[in-house]
Amino acid sequence: MPDHPGSEPDKMPEKSGDQSAPAEAGRRLNFIQQIIEEDNRTGKHGGRVHTRFPPEPNGYLHVGHAKSICLNFGLAEQYGGKCNLRFDDTNPEKEEEEYVRSIQEDIRWLGFDWEDRLYFASDYFQQMYDWAVELIRKGKAYVCDLTAEQTREYRGTLTAPGRPSPYRDRSVQENLDLFARMKAGEFPDGSRTLRAKIDVASPNLNMRDPVMYRILHARHHRTGDAWCIYPMYDWAHGLEDSIERITHSICTLEFENHRPLYDWFLDELGVFHPQQIEFARLELNHTVMSKRKLLQLVREGHVDGWDDPRMPTISGMRRRGYTPASIRAFCARVGVAKFNSTIDFAKLEHAVREDLNKTSPRVMAVLNPLKVVIENYPDAHEALDAVNNPEDPDAGTRKVPFTRELYIERDDFMEDPPKKFFRLSPGSEVRLRYAYFITCTGVIKSDAGEVVELRCTYDPATRGGDSPDGRKVKATLHWVSAHYAIDAEVRLYDHLFAAEDPEAVPEGGTFLDNLNPNSLQVLQHCKVEPSLETAAPGDRFQFERHGYFCVDTRYSRPGKPVFNRTVALRDTWKKIAGK
Ligand code: ATP
Ligand code: MG
Repeated sequence: MPDHPGSEPDKMPEKSGDQSAPAEAGRRLNFIQQIIEEDNRTGKHGGRVHTRFPPEPNGYLHVGHAKSICLNFGLAEQYGGKCNLRFDDTNPEKEEEEYVRSIQEDIRWLGFDWEDRLYFASDYFQQMYDWAVELIRKGKAYVCDLTAEQTREYRGTLTAPGRPSPYRDRSVQENLDLFARMKAGEFPDGSRTLRAKIDVASPNLNMRDPVMYRILHARHHRTGDAWCIYPMYDWAHGLEDSIERITHSICTLEFENHRPLYDWFLDELGVFHPQQIEFARLELNHTVMSKRKLLQLVREGHVDGWDDPRMPTISGMRRRGYTPASIRAFCARVGVAKFNSTIDFAKLEHAVREDLNKTSPRVMAVLNPLKVVIENYPDAHEALDAVNNPEDPDAGTRKVPFTRELYIERDDFMEDPPKKFFRLSPGSEVRLRYAYFITCTGVIKSDAGEVVELRCTYDPATRGGDSPDGRKVKATLHWVSAHYAIDAEVRLYDHLFAAEDPEAVPEGGTFLDNLNPNSLQVLQHCKVEPSLETAAPGDRFQFERHGYFCVDTRYSRPGKPVFNRTVALRDTWKKIAGK
């Protein structure tokens, strides 16, 4: 802990993966903005910019999604366009209403609005089916009876060409009949598929007669039992974009070699053709971002739900105390790149600190209390003025009660201090923030030898924390009145995964082996200043010298608040390095 109260966020060098180019008027455009501006110049979409954010409702959103949300809604905003929210709910097996609800809540919380443009891919199932029939009629799609395993085997590999399915040359009539019967529910799951007839020898595996429909007798969260064939992502996604007349369909890099297929479907159908553009997904160290892994953490109870404050989910970050503005600023700073890279988690925390520094009221909270009795202070109390936020002159001051008995932080005292220790020790003098200079005159110990109480004297002439004779002290401590303080629980967090790359495990291990056993530390006997009596769930504060904290929305109770530490005041790694 620093010796002096700090409100300055640490400074961090700016570094980003942004591949932006200089533009006229001194603006820097990222490569997607360059494409859009070029399209606007050539009139490709009549100057229209229409993007979409297309989550699959199979989990909660994470900070990677936030990046995509900021990008899609942000571009629409910047170019006077629109951005749709579209649930890509083509897979009935993993999707749930809970996710549909949470995703909307998270996007709104981030500060974006899809207005009346909320769509579901499942609303297009009939149109997609009709288009599939059209491709069959054109001789561009066929019903295939190979099993999933056989299909994979026939498809070949990167080095070996595929072989044509024995069902590839079925007549249009037979294909139409079989496809209709697939839809009618005549065949069991997995027994047949509809495939596009493209090129089994294509160097691009995605073009080797990809599957468009599979049979799945599963109930869908919106269409119920109406369908037992479901469209595959590659077939469905471009159609959804086309129906909604999306101009720029932005997705992550792993879809780059799916783009020829995206284009093929739209060209064969001759329908409105959006442009797919790929960018590098956001990856952060010390965490995982695959929804499958996040779901596993939740299901197996490694965390306290999707919104556990250690989760990289938007709901987790909200509960932790991150602000929407800080997440947006972080996404903007990371930029848009064409190559994958992993961003340091510290960069996200830096953005959080920077925002909270401007907006959080300062308060005093003692996390590990040690009692102090001011022997020459009368058995009375007084109210002292404390500054609410030195960064915000409008935030004003508040009164904090000072009494004869106080609590200070246990590690602000050392009975036998090393040379560089400037805080309290027998005979030393320190400043109590906004209060007085005090000098330690005695130490009381338990039978076990533990320090349980300090005896001190105060100098009445130093009221407010300044000495009239210019006497200097080297440390300023925070404190609370023993009589007026409120009991609180404080939860300190560390990375959920100790390893920078949680996926890096020796043969036979799993990412769970890298879980950090010390990622949550619960302090149950903290004392916080009485102004926090009225703090409501979700309220954010700076605890002086400790960092930024947020009232927990699940466990906090009136009279017994629970605080989550959002982020420490400074990057702890730096602190250790600088010691
Ligand atoms: P899954 O693991 O289920 O495929 P996903 O992470 O791709 O999930 P989707 O719900 O399909 O999740 O994603 C919605 C949108 O968010 C997509 O456009 C996707 O490209 C984007 N997205 C997902 N993860 C990231 C990420 N880490 N960085 C940037 N964008 C992302
Ligand atoms: Mg996906």
